[in-house]
Amino acid sequence: MTRKYLLPEHGNFYKANLHSHGTYSDGVLTPELAKELYKNQGYSIYAYTEHNQLNYFKELNDDDFLVLCGFELNVANKWGGDVFEKNCHINAIARDPDNAVYVDRPQSYDPDEINRVIRELIAANYIVNYNHPSWSSEEPSDYLPLKGFTAMEIYNSNASVVTNNGRDDYHYDVMLRHGKKLFCIATDDNHNSSLISGNFRRSDSFGGWTVFKAPALTYSAIIEAFDAGNFYCSTGPEIFDYYIEDDKICIKCSPISAVYIKNDETGALDKIYSENNDMEYFECNLAEARERCKYIRFELVDENSRTAYTNPIFFD
Ligand SMILES: [Zn+2]
Ligand SMILES: [Zn+2]
Repeated sequence: MTRKYLLPEHGNFYKANLHSHGTYSDGVLTPELAKELYKNQGYSIYAYTEHNQLNYFKELNDDDFLVLCGFELNVANKWGGDVFEKNCHINAIARDPDNAVYVDRPQSYDPDEINRVIRELIAANYIVNYNHPSWSSEEPSDYLPLKGFTAMEIYNSNASVVTNNGRDDYHYDVMLRHGKKLFCIATDDNHNSSLISGNFRRSDSFGGWTVFKAPALTYSAIIEAFDAGNFYCSTGPEIFDYYIEDDKICIKCSPISAVYIKNDETGALDKIYSENNDMEYFECNLAEARERCKYIRFELVDENSRTAYTNPIFFD
């Protein structure tokens, strides 16, 4: 019996919000209050990613809370007050926060220019992620030319609350079908405007998160886990184990109603339902998937339609 771990065998789980805004750009929370609120909800990691500026709130680190240093860059193809025809937003997370240097945003909405900035970010030792294509009104022809992303948002809570288009699983599968090997993350992108505005009442905090499995809550261990794909993301269910054993893929999780095996073909490769919404383990045979698919990934759905997303297994 051989077992290959897709989440590491050893280590601890650390819940992270990888995309946020606060009082240094267009959000509402001070860095201190963001820490307090997220810690109270069981988060260990918080990425402060203001628009087009680099901050590192290192003083907020403690034994149970890790501050990630980064920023969000944006470029639109046409400006018009608060309404844009099309946008590209990318998040940069510094691998070495003490030596991080800001990289300026793209100067035009053009794939060559955006790729130039991504290359510059990678050279400056950043992890680069692609944000919320549905909110940005971007199409495959806009994002498929882009190169160098480590991950993309499969779920963005702010887009879900404010414009009801926070799910980007369609765009994620488009990326994967076209051979892009990138991980998926869920984020809040919280601005917390509901705290001061009557425009909408639902909070964009605590809607989508990413859970790393790592040996320790240190900056370098979490960056290593990020680069290795040692994480899953979720809007609800938890994943405890994800491994391959004797050509079977096995997942242990909190109680769910259904699991969908997503792949590069039309329709899910398979789905398994639980009548009592209490499935906590399932397995599927790898042989068929390996034969037919470029990749597979799993979506675990609970009785409230909240979803956990694994990173993919690639076969090509
Ligand atoms: Zn954005
Ligand atoms: Zn944002």
